Amino acid sequence: MTLDFLGTLQRTHKCGDLRSELAGQPVVLMGWVNRRRDHGNLIFLDLRDRTGITQIVLDKEASPVAHAKAEQARPEYVVAVKGTVRKRDAGLENPNMATGEIEVVAAELLLLNESKTPPFSPAEDAIANEEVRLKYRYLDLRRAEMQKNIEVRHRVALAIRQYLSGEGFMEIETPYMTRSTPEGARDYLVPSRVHAGSFYALPQSPQIFKQILMISGCDRYFQIARCFRDEDLRADRQPEFTQIDLEMSFPQMDDVFRTVEGFLNAAFLAAGQGLTAPFPRMTYDEAIRLYGIDKPDMRLPAMVELTSTFSAELRETLKIEAALPVVGFVIPSVGTMSGTQKRALVDEIRTNLGSSGGAGGLDFLDTARLRTNEAFVPLADAIAAAMQPESADDLMVVITPKLGTPAKWNGDAMWIHKKVGLLRLELAKKFADKHKRFEKKNAAEDYKFLWVTDFPFFEWDETTKTWTFAHHPFTSPHEDDLMSGRLTSDPGAVRALAYDIVLNGTELGSGSIRIHRQDVQSEIFRALGMSDEEAKERFGFFLDALEYGTPPHGGIALGLDRIAMILAGAPSLREVIAFPKTAKAIDLMVDAPTPVSDIQLRDLHIRTVARS
Ligand code: ASP
Repeated sequence: MTLDFLGTLQRTHKCGDLRSELAGQPVVLMGWVNRRRDHGNLIFLDLRDRTGITQIVLDKEASPVAHAKAEQARPEYVVAVKGTVRKRDAGLENPNMATGEIEVVAAELLLLNESKTPPFSPAEDAIANEEVRLKYRYLDLRRAEMQKNIEVRHRVALAIRQYLSGEGFMEIETPYMTRSTPEGARDYLVPSRVHAGSFYALPQSPQIFKQILMISGCDRYFQIARCFRDEDLRADRQPEFTQIDLEMSFPQMDDVFRTVEGFLNAAFLAAGQGLTAPFPRMTYDEAIRLYGIDKPDMRLPAMVELTSTFSAELRETLKIEAALPVVGFVIPSVGTMSGTQKRALVDEIRTNLGSSGGAGGLDFLDTARLRTNEAFVPLADAIAAAMQPESADDLMVVITPKLGTPAKWNGDAMWIHKKVGLLRLELAKKFADKHKRFEKKNAAEDYKFLWVTDFPFFEWDETTKTWTFAHHPFTSPHEDDLMSGRLTSDPGAVRALAYDIVLNGTELGSGSIRIHRQDVQSEIFRALGMSDEEAKERFGFFLDALEYGTPPHGGIALGLDRIAMILAGAPSLREVIAFPKTAKAIDLMVDAPTPVSDIQLRDLHIRTVARS
């Protein structure tokens, strides 16, 4: 087949532009053949570009040359059409297409490029095999759905940039080739050719640089920043991901919260959706007490403290531990289950709680047990009043049987709340489809944002038997915890000036007010078990910088990929990243990672060994 050259032909419109007001107008469109229908003397080509699809008509009698070329055109061929817009005859309009009232009658058709038969058609809405989609990502991205997702992401990022610029933030790039940033993951390393045996680390976040920018007097920084973390990947993680990263000087927490609420509002508006700000706030302790988790899904009712409902006498008769809390929650829409399903559910809960006896096992009373077991009947009304179930809901009251042996809650007063909180979530997910609270309406009330504040500063690491930082080591403890000496006397009780933003049970981002004094930073490194030498070796440059008039500062980072995913209504992060990696951290299109040549390795002073 002979292909045509474009010559001086210029595109006048995009394939999604034309409407009936333009009837009679000469136009030039260019794009891909989405579908071709051959009716003999008439051939219809659906011409596609990023903006949409226009139907092109090729009439053998009126334009025999163009018609002959259309006979050769196949899906995904690249063509240019010169023709005239025509209003479709009554009854032939296609209400499902934005351009469905018109068609373009072609006078000329240029075949600019051909295409092999693609492994899947970009004209299809859904392609089941994700591996094939990722291998042929360039074809996958041609699909309307992906074009929409990429555009939503662009609009969201643009709105955030505009909002933050308007608030006096400057976007400043920070290096990719740097040294380790302690965000709790493994680093990706880049070997240095010039400095044998030395490595750059790709940033897990721009954390230290953004703090240094505050020391530099930049006042307000942001960056839509790529971060790299070598973690075991879960379905919803990518080894390189994008954060909306920001830092401000002299802030109160409120300033950070207002800034985030402002840019999220702009982002949601840019995607045609709404949200309600300011977002509610809750301390970490409250979150655990009410939801058993530090990222509560506020679409579900909180757990209910029933401790006082169970009097000392009652506990004695029912053989319930005297000192431990009794917590209840509502399982939504259980009433619609069959008897067999219900029994399976009860078995599942029993296994989850370890109710079959033995230390550490919990027991539970569900609606049926509360109503039928005589011992519990007097309680049932009080419990129902406290929990306010709807008619199809089931009640779940978790109790601790008295076993007289030390159990797992030792050392963690909130152990029961956490355990029950997880069970509550699992059950809610199970019934999510039936549960009206999970219905997606894309309206502001479906987005339940929440700020969680006052996280514990330290986390106990069972493997190393040491205290480690819960956020990162630059987070400031509460001033009174610092002054009271709790850092050494009771590390577990130290609260951080750290906060998370949570949406519908997912953490969207986290941040903190930072340490701005060198003496405090050194003390924290020590409390984290780092010797002064080690701290100097790893963060000497930063400790030095802190000594030159560092202003109080704080900031936050939110995952852009996740926000784009939510706003595009997409089921996974991969749907809003143009070139994502698989769960095994592989780029199937370019086939990375790959072994490299011996020469490259030699240049980098690296020898590889086979994994045993
Ligand atoms: N660097 C932190 C993170 O990536 C965010 C922050 O503290 O601003 O999670």
